[in-house]
Amino acid sequence: MKRALLIAAVALLALAGAWYLTPADSVRAASPVQGDPTMKWNGEKVVKTDAEWKQILTADQYKVCRKAGTERAFTGAYWDNHEKGVYYCAACGLPLFTSDTKFDSGTGWPSFWAPIHEENVTAREDNSLWARRTETICSRCDSHLGHVFPDGPKPTGLRYCMNSVALRFEKK
Ligand SMILES: [Zn+2]
Repeated sequence: MKRALLIAAVALLALAGAWYLTPADSVRAASPVQGDPTMKWNGEKVVKTDAEWKQILTADQYKVCRKAGTERAFTGAYWDNHEKGVYYCAACGLPLFTSDTKFDSGTGWPSFWAPIHEENVTAREDNSLWARRTETICSRCDSHLGHVFPDGPKPTGLRYCMNSVALRFEKK
């Protein structure tokens, strides 16, 4: 009886190990706090090589998150998502936005007037494409998320214009 239990326990552990290491779950593996939607960024960075990111992310995610690409408007998974829930960084799993601050901007990209915590989303100047814009990146893994513009609704007046592919939504 004891032996059967031991074998069952070992089998379970092996299964859990295999699940943890499958490539599809490495995004989750990289983000142990996934699932805590209230987590404020604590200053710790997630740092990976380009090759590692390529392994973890899909081709589209890599292009947007790591190469600052932009998905075509009205093509992403979340621009028209009206479900209640939390939007996490697709690359590292840090919670970035909630449905509470999402609004219909008409742009075809998921738009928010504030991040879940100021600390979780970092803004930096972007002078590419001959236009001065403010890029937004994930504070924890520096993945490109989109841009922030000063033409959003109250109370902040900001419009965080995000790429769906840089986010992962989890329903409340
Ligand atoms: Zn991230």
